[in-house]
Amino acid sequence: MFLRMQRRHALLAMVLPHVLLVLLPLVSQVWSGGWAAFGLLFVASTLVGCMGVTVGLHRYFSHRSFKAPREMHRLIGIVSCMAAQGPVTYWVALHRLHHTFSDEPGDPHSPNPRAWKMPDTLSGRLRAFWQGHCGWVWRHDVPMPTRYARDLMSDPVMAWVDRRYPVWVLLSVLIPTAFGAWYQGGWSGALWGFYWGAVVRLVIVHHMIWIVNSLSHTWGRRGSDTTDTSRNLWLLALVTFGEGWHNNHHARPTLARMGWNWRQPDPGWWFICSLQRMGLVHSVKG
Ligand SMILES: [Zn+2]
Ligand SMILES: [Zn+2]
Repeated sequence: MFLRMQRRHALLAMVLPHVLLVLLPLVSQVWSGGWAAFGLLFVASTLVGCMGVTVGLHRYFSHRSFKAPREMHRLIGIVSCMAAQGPVTYWVALHRLHHTFSDEPGDPHSPNPRAWKMPDTLSGRLRAFWQGHCGWVWRHDVPMPTRYARDLMSDPVMAWVDRRYPVWVLLSVLIPTAFGAWYQGGWSGALWGFYWGAVVRLVIVHHMIWIVNSLSHTWGRRGSDTTDTSRNLWLLALVTFGEGWHNNHHARPTLARMGWNWRQPDPGWWFICSLQRMGLVHSVKG
């Protein structure tokens, strides 16, 4: 049953946006709107990718690196679900499994051949890289939430958020579509908003976190001597809101800050600092 649910979710939330990304420009005027299209894409990707994925799902829910009052906790949960990477409890359990078995059998998304018992040859490494990047979403073991996400299982706010996961994903598609209809007018405007605010944004945010799983365990510098293959990659850090400082993160996973000095820019950390300055979050571990 889990396998059927996984595959249905992967098809709808991950494969379908890639297909639409290629097909929609062939049948509609999605290239209209010029810079407004990139503005919409930038705002939607930043909101969902930064607040939802790196700050929400990763630093807040998975590692508890800061605290938030009840309604902010709920809002972060809702925005996290808008990334369409599964309910919060599922994402967190899967990510904690990654930290438990990093690059060993049991790691759900390692790009390392030994994690998949593949030969350490060029073909084995390429197959493991694909599996670690996105092949895993098609079939992977589901960790026991009672073991890996016990804190969220006993959290009534998170139960409320996770029960409505399809609603939040749908909202994340409908809001930019409605914006497009208002801004550009009519059905073609709605399709324009749907394309840039939902389809392209979904694809970008999926790859944003997948590339951290794959590339950040393959290529880059190691500042800390961790037992896994995690790396720091500055170019990746810039386009993943700081997630590219992945070796730092594996060395000290409970820190909200992934870039440890001024030469390691970390937009996710800046975002958390802004929320703290506004009094929206507190007890930040930096
Ligand atoms: Zn990792
Ligand atoms: Zn982590």
